[in-house]
Amino acid sequence: MSEQKNAFISGASKGIGLAIAKLFAKNNIRVTCASRTIEDLENIVSEIKKEGGKAQAIRLDVSNTIDFADAVKKTTEKYGEIDILVNNAGIVKDNLMLRMKEKDWDSVISINLKGCFNGIKAVIPSMMKKRFGRIINISSVSGIMGNAGQSNYSASKAGIIGLTKTAAREFASRNITVNAIAPGYIDTDMVSSLNETLKEDIIKNIPLRRIGKVSEIAETALFLSSNEAGYITGQTIAVNGGLHM
Ligand code: NAP
Repeated sequence: MSEQKNAFISGASKGIGLAIAKLFAKNNIRVTCASRTIEDLENIVSEIKKEGGKAQAIRLDVSNTIDFADAVKKTTEKYGEIDILVNNAGIVKDNLMLRMKEKDWDSVISINLKGCFNGIKAVIPSMMKKRFGRIINISSVSGIMGNAGQSNYSASKAGIIGLTKTAAREFASRNITVNAIAPGYIDTDMVSSLNETLKEDIIKNIPLRRIGKVSEIAETALFLSSNEAGYITGQTIAVNGGLHM
């Protein structure tokens, strides 16, 4: 059996991050699940352990540079160096630009975009030494197409694509790949909170005529983190039912 890899997944307490953590654990990857709410994470970790996986929970606000570095240090002390980083934590604070408050702009940029930068900074020294790494940043179709009412969110998600390409170029010589996944509408709390009429309108514009499943993003992340995906870097993989092509 190949050596067990370590993955650090931010925003692993629900939705897409949770699906990634569970799928990775099923595939013999030790997972560190991070988010701001430790109670949620501890439940998930015990579920993963019951199913035979290896997991631990770490409380972390990804927008805090020092805390991110500290969480990575603690993970490394327990499990060894991190092989796979999934920068998944993200929030929305939607409003039309004219009504958007500065604090809502700042918090979305600082969690969604600076959070990814913080994660990469924290794991990269040991990945460079090891000459192996897989970094996966979760962007969004909104970062590619724009979306009225989401200037902060779209900017953060477009920023992630630029950050991904730059990091891919900077670390390629060390055998570290950096890719983004841009999900379309996926069945999580973010989408289930939309009213039914809006959901129907959204589905009309999706060629595959349905909302995506969290498992479809998790499977993409698992592939990008595999040894077999070693020749893919700097890419943004769209998983959106054809909403944008
Ligand atoms: P979700 O269900 O709302 O979960 C978000 C996760 O991020 C939670 O675990 C949350 O836990 C964590 N989080 C939020 N702020 C954090 C912070 N400052 N530090 C650490 N963790 C934080 O979201 P989701 O729908 O699964 O989305 C996951 C990612 O996919 C996000 O980046 C999102 O933008 C992106 N995405 C989602 C969709 C979609 O349709 N669902 C589409 C495109 C892109 P705590 O609140 O406890 O910290």
